[in-house]
Amino acid sequence: MAPHPGVFIDPRAGGAGSDGPALFLDRDGVINIDHGYVSTPSATQWVDGIFDLCRGAIALGYRLIVVTNQAGIARGYYTEAQFLKYSHWVHAVFHEQGADLLATMYCPHHPTAGLERLRVICSCRKPAPGMLLEASRRFNVNLALSVLVGDKPSDLEAGSAAGVGRLYLASPTGMVDSQAKAWDLAAVLSDMQCKAT
Ligand SMILES: [Mg+2]
Ligand SMILES: [Zn+2]
Repeated sequence: MAPHPGVFIDPRAGGAGSDGPALFLDRDGVINIDHGYVSTPSATQWVDGIFDLCRGAIALGYRLIVVTNQAGIARGYYTEAQFLKYSHWVHAVFHEQGADLLATMYCPHHPTAGLERLRVICSCRKPAPGMLLEASRRFNVNLALSVLVGDKPSDLEAGSAAGVGRLYLASPTGMVDSQAKAWDLAAVLSDMQCKAT
């Protein structure tokens, strides 16, 4: 049996929900600045515009779901329990900001490195679409109506493979490679609002 993604469901979340859209957010590089294997509040620096984007998306009828590769668990940099504790904190901050997250889907695996138990080729590590497909099953998400924001091509590949309707490559630092079409989060929200009307 294929290894499954992990899921942290927000303690405030209600039922499975109806067949509506979700805003899927990569974590490092979209929600918080990617300093590499961030796993503590003190290492967390929020990306400008993330709470506005999330509040705006909720107002448009999207549920918020984080989808994050967490090879730091496979590599033994932090345990799954530490990751869950940190996720609990992240969700609490979003709640205080009026931007409730429904869940954080995470891939604890790595194909070649780390602890033997988690050293596997899985179907959840992005660019594979497993986390998005599992979120869709669990929470009744209509993927075609959904939106994904990532900071790497592998995030967008996962979205594309899952059939997510709209994909944005975000640039949290504002350092945009001239080849890449990257959006800051305020521009993502404007575009979502534009397409909704
Ligand atoms: Mg990222
Ligand atoms: Zn995985």
